[in-house]
Amino acid sequence: MAKVQAPRGTHDVLPAQEDARHALEEAAARILGAAGYERIETPMFEATDLFKRTVGESTDIVQKEMYTFEDGGGRSLTLRPEVTAPIARAYLEHGMHKLPQPVKLWYLSACFRYERAQAGRQRQFWQIGAEAIGAADPAVDAELITLLHRVLDEVGVEELELRISSLGTPATRASYRDRLQAHLRAHEDQLSEEVRGRIDLNPLRAFDSDHPGTVEVMKTAPLLLDELDADDAAHFAQVRELLDVADVAYVIDPTLVRGLDYYARTVFEFTSGALGAQSAVGGGGRYDGLVEQLGGPVTPGCGWAAGVERILLAAGERAAGSTQIDLYVAFEGEAQRTAAFAIATYARQAGRHAQLELAGRSMKGQLKAAARVGARFVVIVREDGTVLKDMDSGEQHDVDPAPDAVVAAVQRGMGSL
Ligand code: AMP
Repeated sequence: MAKVQAPRGTHDVLPAQEDARHALEEAAARILGAAGYERIETPMFEATDLFKRTVGESTDIVQKEMYTFEDGGGRSLTLRPEVTAPIARAYLEHGMHKLPQPVKLWYLSACFRYERAQAGRQRQFWQIGAEAIGAADPAVDAELITLLHRVLDEVGVEELELRISSLGTPATRASYRDRLQAHLRAHEDQLSEEVRGRIDLNPLRAFDSDHPGTVEVMKTAPLLLDELDADDAAHFAQVRELLDVADVAYVIDPTLVRGLDYYARTVFEFTSGALGAQSAVGGGGRYDGLVEQLGGPVTPGCGWAAGVERILLAAGERAAGSTQIDLYVAFEGEAQRTAAFAIATYARQAGRHAQLELAGRSMKGQLKAAARVGARFVVIVREDGTVLKDMDSGEQHDVDPAPDAVVAAVQRGMGSL
């Protein structure tokens, strides 16, 4: 019979990769927690409308990447392609605007996008993200960028580069959009079919294209950064100043376009030269209109999301060492199983990392298994006596077979008694 495989674009996280993931989660929890961000978890699926209204009807995500389905009650639901809109929904739904502002949240959540699967691009992937909702201060933007930089740096992401820009307010963007559309129309015959098809819906995405003709046309395109109003320009200048204070290096990239519609003012993206074509490790920006789009009051907000799989790829999957095993409990003869089980149980209760022989191996096989898992000590329970072997020195001596006596001997051997 044909074997059933995991769906394309998904993968199992095997035990060998868990240590590195855990180290990343721990670093994020520590760094974000220390800065006052609290963890939140939203449902894996939401009303489809949530993403249509916020991420934007014209975006790739909404147009072709959502896993949308009808439930038994005929409601249209979507597996979350991103987590910012769900968090803005939760902020409103739970009246978080009544809390001291900004409300600072972080998450580690699975996301789903029907994308062309390749290295660093899956259909199910995980994002670590942080959001600060309810404050317009440029220090919020700079704090968030600095924290993401710290997380990436701490887990060892190599060849990191930060690009930043500002999209201005929706009004600035609208008038800029008209000018950009006029520029694209004037050079329509040189553009790729895809870009031409999106002049009306999403002209900004033309900056993302690597089609040679389009790239040429974009060299002379007007830039949004040159058209910011005074307030937006001042906000952007302050964000840059604070990044300088935090010693976070950046490049200003006026062509930076994020694939979601809800951004305004600051946008940013971290890339890693250690990755191939999918070089974006994480990014985000300010989304001052998002909560309002969901029917809430005018509420500023800013945040970022970073891909767990890409971070680990870019960090060279530098795994933290696997758990050290203090004691391997080996035994000879069925009659000794209960005594061996009691020792392993007692050792675990005493806080020791202990493993019990479970495969019925020969004594030689058991000692090999103990060496393979890196056990520091092996206790060998035999009918004619119990022996404790120090795997570092190779020395062994008789011990009292009572579980507490064995564990005390291990602790003495490890220098903790
Ligand atoms: P975005 O919200 O599209 O900017 O995504 C934020 C981050 O999530 C990206 O910088 C990537 O690290 C990660 N990411 C986005 N889409 C995928 C995907 N299909 N597979 C793996 N990681 C992704």
